[in-house]
Amino acid sequence: MTSTNTAPRFSHGKIIIISAPSGCGKSTIINALLQQGEIDMQFSVSATNRQPRPGEIDGVSYHFLSDEDFRSAIANGEFVEYEEVYPGCYYGTLRSEIARIVDSGHNVVLDIDVKGGVNVKKLYGDRAVSIFIKPPSIEALRERLVGRATETPEAIDQRVARAELEISYAPQFDHVVVNDDLSQAIGNVSSILKDFTL
Ligand code: 5GP
Repeated sequence: MTSTNTAPRFSHGKIIIISAPSGCGKSTIINALLQQGEIDMQFSVSATNRQPRPGEIDGVSYHFLSDEDFRSAIANGEFVEYEEVYPGCYYGTLRSEIARIVDSGHNVVLDIDVKGGVNVKKLYGDRAVSIFIKPPSIEALRERLVGRATETPEAIDQRVARAELEISYAPQFDHVVVNDDLSQAIGNVSSILKDFTL
C-alpha cells in the first residue's frame, strides 16, 4: 500500500530517484556520487521498521522505527510514499527529509524501491528524474548478494525473487543504467544527473 496524496511544497531543488533490485550496486553508486561531490545532492534518509544491519547507524542509514512508530508515522501523514518492500518490512520517504534538503536549496536523492520510485516520479513530474540500475543478469545479482554476506540464504532467495519483479518496472523509469562495470555505471549515472541538475 502506498500513500501518494500531495507533493510537499518546496521552492528549490530537484528530486533524483534511484531504484534497483537489492544487490545491484545502487548504494555504492549513490555513495560514490555523494563523495565525488560534483553533483549537488543530499541523501534522503528513509524510515524503516526493519532491524539495523551491523554497521548501520540510526538517522544516517535509516530512521529505524518500531512497528508501532512506523504505523503512527503513516497515520500522521509523515510519508510522501511508503511500501511494504518485503513481507513485514516497511520503508517510507519522510516529508520532513525532502523538505529539509529542498528547503535548504539542494537536490535530494532517494534510494527507494521500484514502486516508490514510479510513484514519486508521478508525483513530481519534470521536477524529478528516475533512474533504474539494472543487474547484468539475475545470476550475477545472486552472486553479488552471496558475496556481500549480509543476508541469510532465505533472505537472498527472497531478494532474487523480488529482483525479477522489480526488473519488470524498468521501462517505467526515465533512464536505465546496466551495472556491469561499476565505474562505467557511476559515470553514466553522473552524466544523466549533470544534465538534469544543471
Ligand atoms: P535494504 O533493506 O536493502 O536497505 O532496502 C531494501 C529496499 O527498500 C531497497 O530497494 C531500497 O531502495 C528500498 N527503500 C529504502 N528506502 C525506501 C523508501 O523510503 N521507500 C521505498 N518505497 N523503498 C525504500
